[in-house]
Amino acid sequence: MKVLCPHCSSPSIIRSSEQVTRLAREAKLICQNPDCGHTFKVMIEAYLTISQPRCPHPDVELPEAPLTAGEGVQASQRREAT
Ligand SMILES: [Zn+2]
Repeated sequence: MKVLCPHCSSPSIIRSSEQVTRLAREAKLICQNPDCGHTFKVMIEAYLTISQPRCPHPDVELPEAPLTAGEGVQASQRREAT
């Protein structure tokens, strides 16, 4: 995953990260531009389901992403196959 520095738009690298909740992870990044040197934090959060899990966790409820026209056909074919 590529994260750009919000100030100078240079690539940044992850220095450390920790799981905050089952759905969210916080990462500390440093800008690779030596003239900038900005360090900052980002959150990575699960917020939509694209395809259903085979081993769902009872505490996790994520809304389903709306299907595009092509995905709708594939999803209905998968449902019919099971
Ligand atoms: Zn920067």
